[in-house]
Amino acid sequence: MTVTTRFAPSPTGGLHVGNLRTALHNWLFARRHGGRFLLRIDDTDLARSEERHVDSIRADLAWLGLIPDGEERQSARFDRYEARFADLIAAGRVYPAYETAEELDLKRKVLLGRGLPPVYDRAALALSDADRTRLEVEGVQPHWRFRLDHEAGIEWDDLVRGPQRFDPKTMSDPVVRRADGSWLYLLPSVIDDIDMGVSHVVRGEDHVSNTATQLQMFSALGATPPAFAHEALLTGNEGKLSKRLGSLGVAHFREIGIEPQALIALLARLGTSDPVEPFADPAPLIEGFDFARFGRAPARFDEAELAQLNARIVHQLGFDRVAARLPAGMDAAAWEVIRPNLSTVAAAADWWAVVEGPVESPAPAEEDRPFLARAAAIAAAIDWSADPWHALTTALKAETDRKGRALFLPLRLALTGRDHGPDMAALLPLIGKDRAIARLSAV
Ligand code: GLU
Repeated sequence: MTVTTRFAPSPTGGLHVGNLRTALHNWLFARRHGGRFLLRIDDTDLARSEERHVDSIRADLAWLGLIPDGEERQSARFDRYEARFADLIAAGRVYPAYETAEELDLKRKVLLGRGLPPVYDRAALALSDADRTRLEVEGVQPHWRFRLDHEAGIEWDDLVRGPQRFDPKTMSDPVVRRADGSWLYLLPSVIDDIDMGVSHVVRGEDHVSNTATQLQMFSALGATPPAFAHEALLTGNEGKLSKRLGSLGVAHFREIGIEPQALIALLARLGTSDPVEPFADPAPLIEGFDFARFGRAPARFDEAELAQLNARIVHQLGFDRVAARLPAGMDAAAWEVIRPNLSTVAAAADWWAVVEGPVESPAPAEEDRPFLARAAAIAAAIDWSADPWHALTTALKAETDRKGRALFLPLRLALTGRDHGPDMAALLPLIGKDRAIARLSAV
C-alpha cells in the first residue's frame, strides 16, 4: 500500500499554528513512509472561500518546505459529488428532509428538556411519496441526510486515540447537502479520500465524531476506509483553544524572525513523548515520526519555547542558508563570528552595523581615558594579520596591570559601543585596524 495523506484546509481564512501542525504531521508521515502528501483545497463553500487564501495557504506551506506531491480542489469536483450522491440515493443511503431550522431546533429542545440526547427522529423517512410531492409543490426544497445503518457498529483503531467505538443509534443522520444544493464537508471529503487513494487521514480530534459517520459513508460507497489519526488540539498558555493561537500564522512568525526550521522542530514533537530538539534539518524528525508517540492530552504551544528553539537553530544555520537575508558586505566569516549572538537572522544587521560603524560609545570613566589612549597607540603598532585582540590585550595587561573586566570592558565599550556581544577576538579583525584605532582614540 502506498501511503497517501492529505492536508485539507478550507480557504476561508489564513492558516493558524494548529493548521500548520496538522499539515506538518501529514507531510512527516508521508515522508516517513515514502508516500504522497496532497494539498486538498476544501472550497465547496463558494461564498466564503477566497482565492487569496488559497494563495496564502500555498505560500505558507512553501515557506515551511512542505511541498505537496499534488493539489486538488473540491470546487473542480462537483460533477463527481453529484454522481456519487446519485449512487447513494439509489442505494437508499441518503434521503430528503424538509424540516426548517426552527423546527429542528424545537425538536432538539424538546428532547433536551426531557433529558434525552438530541438525536434527529428521522421523521422525514416516514414521509410518503404523496407527502413529499405536496411539500415540493408548496415550494419546500429538501436538504439531504445520510442514513446511518443502525445495525452496523462503528469501530476503528485510531492511530493516536486507540480503539474507538460509536453506536449509530445515538447519532443523528448527518446532513450532507443543504436545500440550496450546496455541500457540507462530510460527504465530498469521503468521496475525495476514496478517489485520491488516501490511506491515512490525519486531523484534529474535533473531527472524531465526523469520522464515525464518515466510516459508514466509505462502506456505503463500497470503499475500504483509510486509517485515522486524530490528534489532541494545541492550546495556548492561557488554556484551551485560545483566541491568540487562532490568529498566529506564518506572517506573524516571519515578522518576529522565526525560522521555518524552528517551527517544524517544535510542532513535530509537541505533544509527543520525544524531547523538542533544535533540528535544522527535518531528516531526524521524519525518521522518528510515529503517531504512537503522541499523547491524548492537549499540547501546549509556548511562544517563548519557540523563540529559544529559534535561537538555537539560527546558531547552526550555514552562511548559504541565510546569505540572501544578510546586509551587503557581510560574508561567511562575519556570519560565523556574529551567529552565536543572534536570536534571529535579522539581528545580524545590528551587529554588522557595529562592525561597520559608526558606533556611539559611552563616554569612558576618567581613569579609563589614558588606558584607551594607550590602547589606540598599541593598536597602531601590533601585527593585525594574526590575532590582534590577543596582541592588544597582552601588551595592555603587561603595561597597566589591568586584568579581567577592568582590562576588557573599556575596550569592548570603546570598540563596539556595547557591553556585551560576540567574542572580541573574532570581532576585532572584522572591525579592522583603522576603525579600531579611530574608535579607541575617539572616546
Ligand atoms: N476542511 C476540513 C477542515 O478544515 C478538513 C478536515 C479533514 O481533514 O478531513 O476541518
